Amino acid sequence: MRRSLIFVLMCQMAMGQINITHLIGIDESHLTTLETYQLTPNTAEAFCAMQAAALQDGIDLHLVSAYRSFVRQQQIFEDKYTRYTAEGQMPKAAIQRILEYSTIPGTSRHHWGTDIDITDANAPNQKRLLVPEKFHGNGPFAPLHQWMQANAHRFGFYLVYTDDATRTGFAYEPWHYSYLPEAKAFLEQYDPNTAYAFFKSIGVAGSEHITRDFWSNYYHNYVKGINVELTE
Ligand SMILES: [Zn+2]
Repeated sequence: MRRSLIFVLMCQMAMGQINITHLIGIDESHLTTLETYQLTPNTAEAFCAMQAAALQDGIDLHLVSAYRSFVRQQQIFEDKYTRYTAEGQMPKAAIQRILEYSTIPGTSRHHWGTDIDITDANAPNQKRLLVPEKFHGNGPFAPLHQWMQANAHRFGFYLVYTDDATRTGFAYEPWHYSYLPEAKAFLEQYDPNTAYAFFKSIGVAGSEHITRDFWSNYYHNYVKGINVELTE
């Protein structure tokens, strides 16, 4: 099963375009390196332009996450799964808790190279960087958030996990932006069935509790539970 699936994926890869292998984090060939991060060339270029503009307004845009591989996402998922179940949570409850902020491997937008987590380097020495409160009120990243709200669209960047009560899925993440000109097309190309088949072939801890029905609901409520500007 696993071998034949990888063979099919390899054949698709040979076509040289963006395909499911790039969208589930097992092929990095479409990416370029910026600092220590990997992004698509278009996302990197747009980010640099935005960074230069922000700097003129006193905001020092700083990447804290960009591309992340399937293997890395698997580590994150399994670390949390092991910890939560060791604390006594039942497997399904542990998975629901993971899904507040972390994705199932193969479904992260960070696999694509179009999505970034950012902070402001003018507010150094922050422990636990990515907390929503830090981006509001008197928080250290409130100026960054205000600047991005006013300017990010000019460079193609949009918040993904907005603070919108009608949105389903992952919690509000004021640090996570997506490069819409590419990410919108990537989402359209994303094939949840192939992603599921690959995920099931790997044997990720807890994956026996993730059925096809679970995956289907997760795809609609989480993967597509994003800022509507990125889906319509
Ligand atoms: Zn993120």
